[in-house]
Amino acid sequence: MPQNNNQNNQNGPGNNNRQTWWTIMLCLLISVSMFAFFGNSLGSSRSREITYDRFVEMIKDKEVEKVLLEDNQLTVTPKKQPLEGMDLTYSVTLVGDENGLNELLADSGVEYSKKAPNVGAEIASAIASIAIPLIIMLLGLRFIMGYMNKGGGMMGFGKSRAKSYVQKETGVTFADVAGEEEAKESLQEVVEFLHDPGKYTQIGAKLPKGALLVGPPGTGKTLLAKAVAGEAHVPFFSLSGSEFVEMFVGVGASRVRDLFEEAKKAAPCIIFIDEIDAIGKTRDTHYGGNDEREQTLNQLLAEMDGFDSSKGLLILGATNRPEVLDPALLRPGRFDRRIIVDRPDLKGRVNILKVHARKVLLDDTVNFDEIALATSGAVGSDLANMVNEAAILAVKYGRRAVSQSDMLEAVELVLVGKEKKERVLSKEERRIVAYHETGHALVSALQKDAEPVQKITIVPRTMGALGYVMQVPEEEKYLNSKNELKAMITGLLAGRAAEELIFGDVTTGASNDIERATKICRAMITQYGMSEKFGLMGLAETENQYLGGKAYLNCGDETATEIDHEVMKMLKESYEEARRLLNENRDALDRLAGYLIIQETITGKEFMRILHTVFKEREQQKSEASVEQERSEASVEQERSEVPVKQETPVQEAEISEQIPEEGK
Ligand code: ADP
Ligand code: ZN
Repeated sequence: MPQNNNQNNQNGPGNNNRQTWWTIMLCLLISVSMFAFFGNSLGSSRSREITYDRFVEMIKDKEVEKVLLEDNQLTVTPKKQPLEGMDLTYSVTLVGDENGLNELLADSGVEYSKKAPNVGAEIASAIASIAIPLIIMLLGLRFIMGYMNKGGGMMGFGKSRAKSYVQKETGVTFADVAGEEEAKESLQEVVEFLHDPGKYTQIGAKLPKGALLVGPPGTGKTLLAKAVAGEAHVPFFSLSGSEFVEMFVGVGASRVRDLFEEAKKAAPCIIFIDEIDAIGKTRDTHYGGNDEREQTLNQLLAEMDGFDSSKGLLILGATNRPEVLDPALLRPGRFDRRIIVDRPDLKGRVNILKVHARKVLLDDTVNFDEIALATSGAVGSDLANMVNEAAILAVKYGRRAVSQSDMLEAVELVLVGKEKKERVLSKEERRIVAYHETGHALVSALQKDAEPVQKITIVPRTMGALGYVMQVPEEEKYLNSKNELKAMITGLLAGRAAEELIFGDVTTGASNDIERATKICRAMITQYGMSEKFGLMGLAETENQYLGGKAYLNCGDETATEIDHEVMKMLKESYEEARRLLNENRDALDRLAGYLIIQETITGKEFMRILHTVFKEREQQKSEASVEQERSEASVEQERSEVPVKQETPVQEAEISEQIPEEGK
């Protein structure tokens, strides 16, 4: 490496050379990896993805005509198309090695071929796999060298770090933040004062020094702070609380000092401290204390007291745990304003989706209201993520614009993870999962206070679920009635109930359901006054409720034991109810689970259609049975009295036989 480090001229010739070299390397790397990526996907046609399990089943059921293997990916041509004239193939990710596949296909009569792997892509990815780590190593080395030289060794750490976080113009405005109208309103005032501090000081108004943005992760606290800086056109200094405390004693405090020094020079400006709870935790002596953190906190307090707010220096802190903050931080003249940045409501979610879809091409099937309804509880970063995933999916499917089906798939991707097509479940396990999920969906559908079923699937997901039922409320709920909560509990326990009913044995698959159902029961008894036994007595206290905080029991030991008994009783009753519903609708359970095992996924509409068909058939059987009975009664009568009753029976029969062909449509 050329030794021009002592030369402080940033645009020196040596530096220029080096930059060119790096640029070339980077371009090379990018093109190699692009080739590796696209080279692979070039030849692939559009087809439906299925799991390997399903594929094995198809082979066993002799439904397969042809199999083509290319890089680990199988293209399966079925013998029979679902519809005449269709040209559908299935794609499957190979599980295990080729030997396993050969074994499976042996004697099956399936036409098997193998396409030579894309050699270009393979070479490219081999090069990339060597080049990438090498380049990362070189980059890292260069970074460390530069660091040592600039800062003059260890003690310079604090200084150079603080500097590297300045942003002259964030370029973010309030228009980029959606769904946090109250927070924006409170911050608008702050923007005005940063614009023209003089206007306020002339009158003698005291300016705020700091504000605390409080809310769960991903709700847009950082974004809001940047928007304040962007709107006021002032520089944005930022640091994360956890970075302050990661190093040696004294470094944190010196970083705070340096940061304020820099910021004061640049005022008017904003200092943003993310995760302020990491430095601002109560200074308790409980755990022996943390000297480093205490020093940092003391330095921060001193700096906040020391600066003159009329210069237009504003400190914004962000936290999702305001309750652990040291009271000293919250005193007047410090972070005395609290701005709540909560999870967005329905309208907020629609607006956030719109903000992020501004630069995305959408077709006219897209309906953000529907997406927002399905994403209750999601925060801004989740929604931003969904829009982006939907755009990626649209590209993957070869579409020109994002459609609603891409959006819905992206919702699942973000909320429950990717489909894990290569996961192998045994045939028996698939049956169990199918009955379990159908149990949830069926019992929900049979109760009038439950949320409608949107989708049932038994395709496993990367985030652990082996299958799940997606339910979407008809409208955003801010309140839940007792009946709705009970319906929820019964629906949750119905997965286990179905397992027991069908297989006579139960699995570990219900653990999450049980946990959730128990939580709801407990809350009904201790917080919502919904049990007969305890009535309206509040038995728990919640901490920090607007952030979904924890509830702590607040009662005597004996009462706590009684609560446990009451929870058990409620769960037992709900479970019995779920079992009863499933038992009475065994025909629907079998039919739906049967479909699910074959289809792997059923939409809410298909689900309701199948259910209604089962109900109609049941009616029919009933009326046929009663006609039968009437007829036999009638013939008895006839024999006895010789009075002709023939007139009525044939008419009824005709009506019924007319109904039958309609069913098939
Ligand atoms: P926090 O600081 O609260 O953890 P961030 O501000 O870092 O959350 O949010 C991460 C990203 O999520 C943002 O960059 C933005 O793309 C998106 N986002 C979060 N909240 C919102 C919102 N209210 N409006 C628009 N986008 C949002
Ligand atoms: Zn379940």
